[in-house]
Amino acid sequence: MTAIDTNTTQAAQRHVSQTDEPMIEIRNVSKWFGNFKVLQDVSLSVAKGERVVICGPSGSGKSTLIRCINRLEEHQQGQIIVDGIELTENIKNIEAIRRNIGMVFQSFNLFPHLSVIDNLTLGPTLVRQMKKKTAEELAMHYLEKVRIPEQAHKYPLQLSGGQQQRVAIARSLCMQPEIMLFDEPTSALDPEMIKEVLDTMIELAESGMTMVCVTHEMGFARTVADNVVLMADGQIVESGTPEEFFNNPRSSRTRNFLDQIL
Ligand code: ADP
Ligand code: MG
Repeated sequence: MTAIDTNTTQAAQRHVSQTDEPMIEIRNVSKWFGNFKVLQDVSLSVAKGERVVICGPSGSGKSTLIRCINRLEEHQQGQIIVDGIELTENIKNIEAIRRNIGMVFQSFNLFPHLSVIDNLTLGPTLVRQMKKKTAEELAMHYLEKVRIPEQAHKYPLQLSGGQQQRVAIARSLCMQPEIMLFDEPTSALDPEMIKEVLDTMIELAESGMTMVCVTHEMGFARTVADNVVLMADGQIVESGTPEEFFNNPRSSRTRNFLDQIL
């Protein structure tokens, strides 16, 4: 094998870029809700193309942490740097940063009075000033990606939960973000619909998207994550590759957590 072949093989195996600045850098972040310290000295680095799964008991601060990444919540101590820009109080370009970050919630948050395609074209036409026709082409492209182009002219409530969540993912993708955040995207779904949403997320991961996913779908974590993180009481108590995390966790809290959910 020539040196070039070796390099190509290594590049193919390693989709995570190790030379660039991290896409998301969270350094010693703390946050309080009143007197309650919800995040305690949290540090997490996410490379371009990396897939991080965050799990942990209810109330441990998972949602708060990922909401801090697009500044839906503000942190009070430490630093959060997204794509080279630090999120600070006087940040001017937060809209630009938010446009670069898609977020998918447990509740699909679609506009019920708009058809699927209008849900998808709203952001690009309003925020990106895209022409309606271009936005519609983009919308159809992503509806095909999530495998429901035939639903384009229905209204959200005419769709199943799994289909609505795939519309929500497609809507985020229409803004062509570099980062996707997922906050328990399958928790509100009936069991038979979980797989179709996870399959969409797996395809997105394979496309090279930088992803931070709060989920308790441990099968997804095992197959897709580069880094699995356990949060408890506002802290990251474990972080490692799926192999380390599931087969050889260092923290007893991780073992207890896995015993409860697996
Ligand atoms: P998780 O997503 O891990 O379940 P959250 O980040 O939603 O946890 O919440 C962490 C803790 O912070 C919980 O105790 C929750 O009650 C509290 N909390 C979340 N949001 C707020 C808020 N806006 N005001 C006050 N407390 C909050
Ligand atoms: Mg949550």
